[in-house]
Amino acid sequence: MISVSEALSEKYVGKNVTLRGWVYRARSVGKKAFVVLRDSSGIIQAVGEEPALSADEFKIASSLTVESSIEISGILKEDKRAPGERELVMNSLKVYCRNDNFPVTKDKGEEFLLDIRHLWVRSREFTSVLKIRNTVFKSFNDYFYSQGYYQVQAPMMVSTATEGGSTLFKVPFFGQEVNLTQSSQFYLETMIFSLEKVFTIAPSFRAEKSRTWRHLTEYWHAEGEVAWYGNEDMMKEEEKMMDYIISEVLKHNVEDLERVGRDINKLKNMNSPFLRIPYRRIIEIGNELGLKLEYGMDLGADEERTITNHFDKPVFVTDFPVSLKSFYHRPDPDHPETVLCHDLLAPEGYGEIIGGGERIWELDVLKQKLKDFGMPEDDYYWYLDLRKYGSIPHSGFGLGLDRLVTWIAGLKTIRDSIPFPRTIRRTKP
Ligand code: ATP
Ligand code: MG
Repeated sequence: MISVSEALSEKYVGKNVTLRGWVYRARSVGKKAFVVLRDSSGIIQAVGEEPALSADEFKIASSLTVESSIEISGILKEDKRAPGERELVMNSLKVYCRNDNFPVTKDKGEEFLLDIRHLWVRSREFTSVLKIRNTVFKSFNDYFYSQGYYQVQAPMMVSTATEGGSTLFKVPFFGQEVNLTQSSQFYLETMIFSLEKVFTIAPSFRAEKSRTWRHLTEYWHAEGEVAWYGNEDMMKEEEKMMDYIISEVLKHNVEDLERVGRDINKLKNMNSPFLRIPYRRIIEIGNELGLKLEYGMDLGADEERTITNHFDKPVFVTDFPVSLKSFYHRPDPDHPETVLCHDLLAPEGYGEIIGGGERIWELDVLKQKLKDFGMPEDDYYWYLDLRKYGSIPHSGFGLGLDRLVTWIAGLKTIRDSIPFPRTIRRTKP
């Protein structure tokens, strides 16, 4: 048994091989049956005729249906007209499952394709998205391991909020209530005191009511936290991480990127250093582009789309006003009305993919901030303890992996970057 991609290589020409997979296309012309076989590695054409196939096998071969599962054997020949320039001349055929009509066709619209996502994941397009996604997840891990980070895990059921109450999911918990985590950040912060450099990949849950290209209610959150790092150190690390992830995708997934219609030359230009633009200037740029923005306004998906359409590389937005960011961000000692933080905006209209920055590490400042934000100290006793015992400057970031995949693959919406998207209107399949 070999894979389709192996069968397409030089070394099997003239040999008898066996392949397994699914019928991608089938048709018969006179006394010849043509079958295109698909497996996880690609597609290959096979041809069947008597007497190499028995009369029974030929009958089956000439009436195969799309996505039936089969096993075929035969001699591999070169054939310039076939996809991949190879053709298998069948001498045996076995059917595992013969389908009636496979219900998936591309032209039935987004909602239909979401309803049948459990079948659409087999399409060549979605297979390519899954492969790009695999490279993104793997290279994120590999990058941080190569830099001496430790991977850690945090709980998903928590009693604190990191990003404010409006997007919390509450779940019953033995007569009490807990929240589904919005971020693993606070737990990562605890672990820098033992490991100094830590990262995690885990789901985060946010009850997002808006339906934008970039919001899921359950998404994959890659987070890092580093002892002794300032905001600028963190941004430099993120630049190197992004360079690595993009270079790995370009190394392993060119065919996949082409299949989903990504402009690869644009992606090749996304290397660091990225621009750094203060929030104040971003507001001006937005207004120069015709938006009606004022200092202190939060930028949403639409505003960021207009602004980042004018960038051909990712951009760090820095120096946000205190009121726009969560309570844990460290005020800039030289300009206390702003915080030492950054959002990384992807270009080409995509917008925010990372939020990060320096965390408050002085106990009295953090206590004051909790008060200003109307948050109960008791709930955060353990987070405050980190500022009592051996507190240190530190920084971290959170990256939305689904958003990153959406941008890297050039997809229209985040719902096409994840096999089973969860949104306000969808919990099936
Ligand atoms: P937004 O303003 O777009 O809602 P955010 O500022 O709430 O994003 P953060 O709290 O900074 O986001 O979260 C860190 C990262 O997690 C974001 O940069 C983004 O990539 C990702 N992220 C946040 N919310 C979602 C979501 N609902 N679905 C998918 N990814 C998300
Ligand atoms: Mg949000």
